[in-house]
Amino acid sequence: MVKHWSLRPTDALRADGLRIADLDTSGTPGFDGDKQKGQQLLAERATVLSGLQEKLFANGRTGDSRNVLLVLQGMDTAGKGGIVRHVIGSVDPQGVDHASFGVPTEEEQQHHYLWRIRKALPRAGQIGVFDRSHYEDVLVVRVHNLVPPEVWEPRYDEINAFERELVEQGTTLVKVAMFVSLDEQKNRLMERLDRPDKYWKFNPADIDERDYWPAYQEAYQVMLDRTSTEIAPWHVIPADRKWFSRLSVTELLIDALERQKLDWPPAEFDIEEQKRRLIEA
Ligand code: AMP
Ligand code: MG
Repeated sequence: MVKHWSLRPTDALRADGLRIADLDTSGTPGFDGDKQKGQQLLAERATVLSGLQEKLFANGRTGDSRNVLLVLQGMDTAGKGGIVRHVIGSVDPQGVDHASFGVPTEEEQQHHYLWRIRKALPRAGQIGVFDRSHYEDVLVVRVHNLVPPEVWEPRYDEINAFERELVEQGTTLVKVAMFVSLDEQKNRLMERLDRPDKYWKFNPADIDERDYWPAYQEAYQVMLDRTSTEIAPWHVIPADRKWFSRLSVTELLIDALERQKLDWPPAEFDIEEQKRRLIEA
């Protein structure tokens, strides 16, 4: 059992059968400790994650095609950026392929919605991070009728097929949906308006989006129901407590990397011979 967890995080956070409407966004499912314990553990586990990431990177440099892709979805203020900064920020930046997806550019609109996603996929040995993703094309697009249902409806199956292709090519997908309560979102948006160092994060349209909360809840539910697959399951993270969501994503990434059973790549030279040469050099 992972320290302070009564359930394995992968099981405690698994989306299967979960109704978002019933989710306690301030909960800490599977975790027994309080904030202080959580933060302590996060520091310890960040070191573990960093070590595993270095092994993944080393293997990528020596011909192993495997990689990891963290997909982050969540409403504004759910804490996606905090995951990037505080969880991904604990590993070597050269091993991270980061991409964020906003409103498609004019060029992107000329292409299939997966076009920009394929271009941003992580290289071998990298941890890829998607801050928003192809799932926007069944979330914001569905909620705002940006395309008709006959266009977005087939996307769920198409996304599953796309992700199967990625897994077959050696990618381990870690899909994370983060949920804050409507009240907590209000607090966080207010903080953005109260603090000069946060104005830049504020977008007046975020307030309008709050009217669509139930429609988003529904779109998220359908997304989880239709695209949480055996090979690429969703995890649902209650995100009112930032320390918990950061700890949770750290644990999910550690689990994904441990499942790869990585070793350090062996030397491709004769070690003794090289030592002799170095002594004489
Ligand atoms: P942010 O993540 O705060 O920078 O906001 C990015 C915005 O881009 C969000 O409002 C997303 O809903 C929006 N967005 C992302 N992908 C798409 C898409 N495929 N179509 C329309 N809007 C999108
Ligand atoms: Mg935003």
